[in-house]
Amino acid sequence: MPENRLEPTSHPLYDQSATFRMARRQLEQCAAAIDLHPDVLKRMAIPKRAMVVSVPVRRDDGKIETFAGFRVQHSLTSGPSKGGLRYHPMVDLGEVAALAMWMSWKCAIMNLPFSGAKGGIAVDPSALSLGEKERLTRRFTEEVLSIIGPRMDVMAPDMGTDEQTMAWMMDTYSMKVGYACPEIVTGKPVEIGGIVGRREATGRGVVMTAMAALEDLKIRPETATAVVQGFGNVGSVTCQELVKRGVKVLAVGDKTGAVLNKKGLDIEALIAHVTKGLPLNKFTGSEELDPQELLTQQCTLAVPAAMERVIDDKNAPKLKCRVLAEGANGPTTPAADAIIQNSDIYVIPDVLCNAGGVTVSYFEWVQDLQQYFWTEKQVNEKLEEQMLGAFHRVRGLARERKFAHRTAALVLGVQKVAREMERRGLYP
Ligand code: NAD
Repeated sequence: MPENRLEPTSHPLYDQSATFRMARRQLEQCAAAIDLHPDVLKRMAIPKRAMVVSVPVRRDDGKIETFAGFRVQHSLTSGPSKGGLRYHPMVDLGEVAALAMWMSWKCAIMNLPFSGAKGGIAVDPSALSLGEKERLTRRFTEEVLSIIGPRMDVMAPDMGTDEQTMAWMMDTYSMKVGYACPEIVTGKPVEIGGIVGRREATGRGVVMTAMAALEDLKIRPETATAVVQGFGNVGSVTCQELVKRGVKVLAVGDKTGAVLNKKGLDIEALIAHVTKGLPLNKFTGSEELDPQELLTQQCTLAVPAAMERVIDDKNAPKLKCRVLAEGANGPTTPAADAIIQNSDIYVIPDVLCNAGGVTVSYFEWVQDLQQYFWTEKQVNEKLEEQMLGAFHRVRGLARERKFAHRTAALVLGVQKVAREMERRGLYP
């Protein structure tokens, strides 16, 4: 495929973002591997729909501040669009569009009847009181009301948002339609129609795929070590699940810094420390580590579970892990990928590795629609079946076609969406 094949589809609104350019580059590489029809490629390279809103919020001191909010629906082809809502100061339209595109491929790889979407507000949630966060969330929900719905677009938590955020969204939407509508969001509290095991689902899925990789490499978990970047929802649950399987977690980092204990960190004590609101890098029972050196520690498993583009062409040559399990979305740039492909690092790409969250979100949505709820054992068993099924589909295709794991995963996702687009026609 000529390098410039995607040029007519570039879009000034999205292309300002390095993360969007990265998502598009990945799509371009995948398209080249399968010789995707250029017309389909052009439709996939730009989101179907994007909404930019101003969200005015009255602060506790009476002043009014206005935040930029985004909701991007990458595709409407495969079912309601589905994706998280992120609160972070660096959120912009292009980043949200990239995350929405990745959601399309992720849902397709997992065979979920969803298209990809993502939302975000450019705000530092740690600078807001609980009341300010509630007003921000309710107002954002009102602003995007015309493009969301249980059959249209269903949100979930992502970085900086949680179960409580989803509860406010569910309540705001329910007040508008006049009845309790739990199926408008997933990842909400169990008391109002949430599913048991959703909060832990992404981290659990990361570890299910990591264990499958170790098995493939004939490495016993009790002999393995790990480092994890990010100690929020995904990172902390990943650590807990690794410890349960006998893996020693050597180092962990978050936005405050990083800590190391060569004998293995006491993860429950670290969770208790962070839950008290104390900075992670002041955890006793560990030594402080330069956060720049976290992912490049000697270990079996390196798990980025925070931000995008943290592994680039500068630190990729320094990676000393055997398996790179991508808990975060988009942690590895295409330039880093090219370097990693020439090493013996076993990559579990983000669109597969962190798909446990959206998979259990799908279970939650189905249960809310049916008003019929499963036990945590049923949820976890079904999650494992789905994660391992997808893992082996990706691994099998990679072996058969001699693709890198990321290419194999993207090929599975992109081809499924392409088939659906071709069948349906030009509307969705
Ligand atoms: P979270 O808000 O619960 O936690 C984020 C963590 O990242 C925090 O510990 C924070 O301190 C840390 N962090 C932020 N900036 C950092 C930096 N510059 N360096 C190091 N650490 C930093 O978010 P989360 O839900 O755990 O999401 C983490 C990643 O996983 C994101 O990429 C998200 O898109 C992805 N993800 C989340 C889910 C989910 O279900 N929550 C599902 C799939 C993918």
